[in-house]
Amino acid sequence: MADVITLLPENIANQIAAGEVIQRPASAVKELLENAVDAGATEIQLIVNDAGKTLVQVIDNGCGMSETDARMCFERHATSKIKTIEDLFHIRTMGFRGEALASIAAVSQVELKTKRKEDAAGTYIEIENSVVLRQEPVAVPDGTSIAMKNLFFNIPARRNFLKSDAVEMRHIVEEFTRVGLAFPAIRFSLTANHQPLYLLEPGSLKQRMLQLWGNSYQNKLITIKEETDYLNIYGFAGKPETAKRTRGDQYFFVNRRYIKSPYLHHAILSAYQDLIPADSHPLYVLFLEIDPSQIDVNVHPAKQEIKFEDEKIIYAFVQAAVRHALAQFSITPSLDFDLDPAIQQLPAIQQPFTDDKRKEAEAGAIFRTFTQKHQAHFIEKHKMDPSVWKNFYEKPAPAPESASSPSERLEFPSPEIFSVFPLHNTYLIAQTANSFFLIHQQAAHERILYEKMKQAGKQNPIPSQRTLFPATLELSPADAAVMEEIIPELQWLGFLIEPFGNNTYIIQGVPGDITPNPDNSVIEILLEQYKHFNPDIKVSVKEKLIRSLARQHAVKGGTKLSENEMYKLVQDLFRCETPAFAPDGKPAYIEFSKDQLEAMFGR
Ligand code: ADP
Ligand code: MG
Repeated sequence: MADVITLLPENIANQIAAGEVIQRPASAVKELLENAVDAGATEIQLIVNDAGKTLVQVIDNGCGMSETDARMCFERHATSKIKTIEDLFHIRTMGFRGEALASIAAVSQVELKTKRKEDAAGTYIEIENSVVLRQEPVAVPDGTSIAMKNLFFNIPARRNFLKSDAVEMRHIVEEFTRVGLAFPAIRFSLTANHQPLYLLEPGSLKQRMLQLWGNSYQNKLITIKEETDYLNIYGFAGKPETAKRTRGDQYFFVNRRYIKSPYLHHAILSAYQDLIPADSHPLYVLFLEIDPSQIDVNVHPAKQEIKFEDEKIIYAFVQAAVRHALAQFSITPSLDFDLDPAIQQLPAIQQPFTDDKRKEAEAGAIFRTFTQKHQAHFIEKHKMDPSVWKNFYEKPAPAPESASSPSERLEFPSPEIFSVFPLHNTYLIAQTANSFFLIHQQAAHERILYEKMKQAGKQNPIPSQRTLFPATLELSPADAAVMEEIIPELQWLGFLIEPFGNNTYIIQGVPGDITPNPDNSVIEILLEQYKHFNPDIKVSVKEKLIRSLARQHAVKGGTKLSENEMYKLVQDLFRCETPAFAPDGKPAYIEFSKDQLEAMFGR
């Protein structure tokens, strides 16, 4: 048999490798902006056309490149930022992998113009599919301009995976915002389809935040600042009133690098405990500074995750810092908050940072002892509380007195239900002649509302009821992009929403049947759930919105229903086309036959 293994041609190998780094226009935006920052630019322009699909261009006034470097920078693993693997642990630049430009050149058509201050002429290079097409001297200002055109022009399959312009633009604005927040001293602008979208003047972090989100935040931000020998944190957290149902304005940076960390997000949320409603999210922009040797930045292709030497200590520190700030601004009643005493001993609270201290500190060693001493305090919480079991045995759910005498029982087409009992205010037990149904009340209600809305909106739009006092909804630019995408479907569903400019929308009407008591949060939650809808499930915008509305308006677990409500719920459920499942496919009920029960008891 013939041998079968061949080496891939370089351009194909590059295309494959590019898949890790460049997934969409916004990935290129991130890489190009970071390169401009690394080049020491004080002014950076971002220009996009067609949500970056046809053009992403970044122009900076940074250090520029020599003729040779201009050619080299498109090679894979070509970087000026590290030389040895050791350097990875002292990294202060955003880039270090030397992959971004090689990846971009593999999947698009690139034009580079660059000039160093000390050179008389600059260099122009045109490259596509990893092949240099032209290179010549050119008269250009100091700095660099890189234009990435027609992303994935040579990989139609990947081009087809790109989302609508609104979605891709939202990702771009998000990346722009992250870099803009991390470097408030740099002037940034964003132009989309020849329209200026943002001009961010250099200033303080707070000024940058107000430029991005509006002056209404002026008095709603709490300063966070804690310094210790091993790590510092600074930034702003929103006062509890800024908490929104939609996630979005939460930014966490480590050594100015934006990172995604659900674990540390939880630390911050937990600091707000009891100050904001359970399912809402406070705004924050926080910067953690830590010795680069204590983190590993090389664990994620897009550099969005990092590994800490000890994540628990960071958790405790972040939580304590935010708590402390909330307390200082008399948001919490007293300093005596409900924290593990071990956390109150944290340097963040105990020891102010001084330059002397930093010098004398053997950071690594102390850090480690400190770590070991306090490692255990999070684990405790997750232990099962024994009283749960005690209650379980001592207090079996009592059958409600009324349930056995259903005076005004409603008729059920099928199956015939004799009686309904509540269980933990979360489940219903519906008894029939030969079985019982254990019904999840929320799942069941979701199913009912879902089918009702589907039915109502089948042929004609769902009628809208004008609100007496139209509510105004101020969104972030990113959320506004989502809103634009879903407005037509929302209107079909009975929400009259009018754009008012500046990412502001006015809610003029709501579907009276479904949302009798409207407030902004209905739309906020819709946006939130829409954004986080499982991307693997291919369903229409309308379907997503209906599912989300059904979930929102369904009775939640823990809600005590009246007898009438219980009966109505069970009756409506069994009138559904697909009563057994909630819209998301989770079971709405489980049936236990009498025979099964007998068998369980060995009868
Ligand atoms: P990395 O940023 O990881 O080093 P890139 O592929 O993004 O890798 O860039 C390769 C190299 O090209 C950089 O190390 C830098 O020397 C040079 N470079 C890229 N963009 C710029 C720019 N805007 N200005 C100056 N030099 C740049
Ligand atoms: Mg780079």
